Order: sequence, then C-alpha cells, then structure tokens
Amino acid sequence: MARSATFFALFLATHASLVLLYPFTLSRLLLTASIYTVGTLIMLYLLFHPRSQWLVDNRSRVEGERCLAVTFDDGPNPLDTPKLLDILRDKNVKATFFVVGKRADQYPEIVRRAWAEGHLIANHTWSHRHLFCFLTPGRLRTEIERGSESVRRICGFRPRLFRSPVGLRHPLLRPYLKDAGLEYVSWTMRTRDTFARNPGMLARRILKQATSGDIILLHDHLPDGTHVMLEALPRVIDELRQRGFEFVLAGPREDAVVTTQEPAASESAR
Ligand SMILES: [Zn+2]
Repeated sequence: MARSATFFALFLATHASLVLLYPFTLSRLLLTASIYTVGTLIMLYLLFHPRSQWLVDNRSRVEGERCLAVTFDDGPNPLDTPKLLDILRDKNVKATFFVVGKRADQYPEIVRRAWAEGHLIANHTWSHRHLFCFLTPGRLRTEIERGSESVRRICGFRPRLFRSPVGLRHPLLRPYLKDAGLEYVSWTMRTRDTFARNPGMLARRILKQATSGDIILLHDHLPDGTHVMLEALPRVIDELRQRGFEFVLAGPREDAVVTTQEPAASESAR
C-alpha cells in the first residue's frame, strides 16, 4: 500500500507544481514545465511499462533450462480458439490462456476444453478495459473479481495468474491482486502479432528473438481474426522444438486447483 500512496503523492505533487506559475515569470514557467514533465514521464513509465516491478511485482520469465511459455490473451474466440486448440493438441504443446471473463462466459465450452486438454486458464480481467490504469478503485476490484469468478464458474477453480489489458498497471493493483490471491504475469517477448499481416514474417520475428525462459505474448482473439498467428504457429513450434526448447505453462497447473466452496469442479472433468 505504501507504493500506491507514493504514486498518489507523486500525482498530487506533479499537479500541485502548477501553483508555482503564480506570479508568472519566464523562469517560473520553465521550472514548472520541468517538474510537470518529469513527474508525468515517471507516472507514465510506472503505468505503461509491461515489465516494471514498481507498482506490482510481476514475473516475465519461466524457470527451467531451454523452457518457453506460450501465452494467449483476449480469448476465447468461437472460431479461432478451437482452431488453436487443435494445433496445440496436434503438436502436443501446453499453453496458458489469459481469458477475458465476459467472453469466457459467452463460450464456456471452449474454456473447459482448453482446461481439459492440459492448458492453464488465467484471469485477463472481466471486460478488458483499455483505460485500465484509470479505473476507479471499485471498478478495478470488479474487473479482477469478476474475471476470477468467471473462471471459477466454468472450470471449478479460482485462477492464480493475472495479466492486465495491454499490460497496463494501476496504482492499486498490488493490494487488490493480493486480496484476490493472484500473481501478475507479464511477458518477455511481445510478438506484435496484433499487427502482423504475414505469417512468415511473424514466425521469423519469434524465432529470431526466442531465448530460454521467455514468456511469449500472442492473442487468440483479434478484431480481424488470428489467421496470421494460426498459420505461423506450427512452424514456430516445430523450429523451436528442433532447437531443443520445451514448452511449459506460465505457472504450475496444480496451483490452479484451489479448493472452492461450491462443487463446480465436476464441470472441469468434461
Ligand atoms: Zn489483452
């Protein structure tokens, strides 16, 4: 909580610096502009940098010699996620799915299938608000809680891993995740699959960057579909395997099986 308070103090101090403008002189304007700019840049860094540890502890790597974790955000998607699951099953790769609660509620059978096939299901908030770092405290808690509740309803356990929309931070994220029993997981490799138009280029970009311990960020739901990623993925998997990499989950699956009060676990057997 101390870091949240420090962040708010920085926010207030940055804005309070505007009083230095009075009485107006050129030197006061320069001083105020400098303080305001530096304060704002620090705040933007803390809120937007995906691997910054300051506002919330987060993990962006996996343990193990020549291990990699492939993670898929924003799904489930009724068309693309089943195709992705087919590829992962054919290639015998286990992945981690950061699902959007609202979408998971719409397509619960896809999430159940992913869980039943050995993948890990994690919380990517309830509705994927792009202005996540500006949410009110109540709304932030709701986004986290409803996301976890959706996974619990569908799979019978509360997820243990969390990733925010676009990796954005929030000054209150650390205490709220602690309350919800969630660990923040970011990534080492942003593949930029959201902009990719050419499967060959996407595959080459991933293969060029991949190193041991990476957590790779991909998406199984995009406005224009994920066919580029789906086409690139089999080649990426084959080549990385040839190089001796092993695909692991972003967190232990046993950890996900947390005892819940209600016996929703029966659904996970499907
Ligand atoms: Zn996302």
